Amino acid sequence: MSLDQEGIVNIAAQKKTDKPAQEAGHFDVLIVGAGISGIDAAYHLGKHFPEKSLTVLETQDGFGGTWLTHKYPGIRSDSDLFTFGYKWKPWMGAPIATAEEILKYLDEAIAENNLQQHIRYGHEVLSAAWSSEKSCWVVEAVDKANNQPLVFTATFLWMCQGYYRHAEGYTPTWPGFEEYRGEVIHPQTWPEDYDYTNKEVVVIGSGATAATLVPAMADKCAHITLLQRSPTYFSPGLNRNELADTLRALDIPDEWTHEIVRRKILLDQQEIRRRSFEEPEALKAELIAGAREHLGENFDIETHFTPRYRPWQQRLAFIPDGDLFQGIASGKASIVTDQIERFTPEGILLASGRELKADLIVTATGFNLCVMGDITFSIDGEVVDFAKRIGYRGFMFAGIPNMAWVFGYFRASWTLRADLIAEYLCRVFEHMADKQATVVTPQLRPEDEGLELKPWVDPDNFNPGYLTRSLHLMPKQGDRGPWQFTQDYWLEKDEFPAADLEDGALVYSR
Ligand SMILES: Cc1cc2nc3c(=O)[nH]c(=O)nc-3n(C[C@H](O)[C@H](O)[C@H](O)COP(=O)(O)OP(=O)(O)OC[C@H]3O[C@@H](n4cnc5c(N)ncnc54)[C@H](O)[C@@H]3O)c2cc1C
Repeated sequence: MSLDQEGIVNIAAQKKTDKPAQEAGHFDVLIVGAGISGIDAAYHLGKHFPEKSLTVLETQDGFGGTWLTHKYPGIRSDSDLFTFGYKWKPWMGAPIATAEEILKYLDEAIAENNLQQHIRYGHEVLSAAWSSEKSCWVVEAVDKANNQPLVFTATFLWMCQGYYRHAEGYTPTWPGFEEYRGEVIHPQTWPEDYDYTNKEVVVIGSGATAATLVPAMADKCAHITLLQRSPTYFSPGLNRNELADTLRALDIPDEWTHEIVRRKILLDQQEIRRRSFEEPEALKAELIAGAREHLGENFDIETHFTPRYRPWQQRLAFIPDGDLFQGIASGKASIVTDQIERFTPEGILLASGRELKADLIVTATGFNLCVMGDITFSIDGEVVDFAKRIGYRGFMFAGIPNMAWVFGYFRASWTLRADLIAEYLCRVFEHMADKQATVVTPQLRPEDEGLELKPWVDPDNFNPGYLTRSLHLMPKQGDRGPWQFTQDYWLEKDEFPAADLEDGALVYSR
C-alpha cells in the first residue's frame, strides 16, 4: 500500500500492473464516467461540436453510475424525473422512478444520440497528468478485462465521476459489531437475489435510502424496524403530476409537456426553498403535519418525525404515495429513535436499554465521499491536492488547465447543474475556437486579492453526514463570484448563460 503525505491511500499507485502501457490515442475531450452526468456531457459535446473527438471511460461494465451500482429493494429516485431527467429528453413516466426506469431512459438517450460509439466500459482511470509542454492531459487507465494499462492523451478533461466511492458505502464502527451473529448488508453492495423472507430486519439510517428500503421490504420480512438516531423531514405525496397528466390528455407534444412541467416544478421548489429560509417554522409545521395525516393523532410524531435541523439543511426526501408511513401505520414496519449503545450477538442494544433483535441489519448509513474518483492528478509533475484548490463557479479550478468537474445540486436535481455546466463549457469551447486558444485556465486576478476561502459547501446551509465527514478533502470556494459555489439553481440558471467569458479569471492561451 502506498500513502501520500496526508496518509491517504494512493489507489492509483496500488492498481498499476507490471504490463507495459499501450498508447490508446488522442482525444479532444475525455470524459470520466458514464453516469447521468457523463452521458449528458457526451450529448452536449456531440450536439455542439460533432467534429471534436471524444471518448468516455467508465470503470463499470455498463452506464448509469448510481443507478447501476445500487440494487437494493425498492431503489428509486428521490427527486422527480422531469427535473432529474435531461432538459433535452422528455420524461414520459411518473415523477419518481425506479433505477430500472432511469436506466431505460439513459439507454434510450445513448441510443438516440449514437453515444455508444464513444463509451469504453471496464476502463478505470488511475491518473491524469497535465503537460504544459504538450498542452494536454496524459491519462493513465486500465482496461480491466485484461488488466492492460493504457495511456490516452486529451486536450480537455470533463470529470463526470460523481461524488462518492462506488465500490463500498460508509459503515460507522460500533462497539460489539464483531459479536453480532446475524447478517449485515450495506445497501450500496446489496447481494443480487438476496432472500429476506420472514427475517427480522433492522435498517439503520434515516435518509432517503432507509425510507425506501423499509416499505419495499416490509411485506416479505417478519418485521422491519427503522432505527434512526434523529428524525428526517419527509414529504409525502402522490407519485403523479397532475399538470403532466392534463397536458398528456390534451395531446400536447412530449417536448412541451416536459418543459412546462419542469418549469412548474422548479417554480414550486423555488417557493419551498424561499420558505425554508424565510419562514422555516411554518414550513416545518406543514411537513410534520404531512406525517401526522398518515399516522394519526396518537402516533409519537414529536419523537420520530420532528427533526432538529431546519428544513433543507439536509435533502428533503419525497415519499411517493406516503409508502413509508403506510408501512408503519399497518404495523408491518416500525420506527425507533434512539442511540446505538452496542451490537450484541442477537442484535442491537440501545441507549434506552431496549434491545432490537435482528436476523439482518441493513446499514443505510451513507456514502464515502470521493474527490475526483480516486484519480491522482498532477500538473507538470506536481501532485494536485484538491483540498487546497479554489473552485471557479464550482466546476473548474484555479491553476488547473482544461479541466471541469460536474458537481450537481443537493437541494435541486443534480442533472439541472450537469446541463448548465455542459452549456457553459460549450460556450467556452466556442469562444476558444474564435480566439484560436487551445488552453483555458482559471486564475485569481489582482482584484481577487484577499479572497476569503470557505468550505466547498457551507455546513450551516447543508450538512448531511457524508459531506461533513469529508469536507476537509473537498476543494474550497471563495467569498465572492466567480469563485463561489452557491448550490443555487435559481441563481445559476440566469448567471451561467450570461457569464462573461472575458472576466479576466478565465485565462486563454495556446
Ligand atoms: C440511491 C441514490 C439515489 C439518488 N437519488 C437522486 C435523486 O433522486 N435526485 C438527484 O438529484 N440526485 C440523486 N442522487 C445523487 C446521484 O448520485 C446523482 O444525482 C447522479 O446520479 C450522479 O450522477 P453522476 O453521473 O454525476 O455520478 P455517478 O452516478 O456517481 O456516476 C459516476 C460514474 O463514474 C464512474 N467512475 C468513477 N470513478 C471513475 C474512474 N476513476 N474511472 C472511470 N470511471 C469512474 C463510476 O463508475 C460511475 O459510473 C442519488 C444518489 C443515490 C446514491
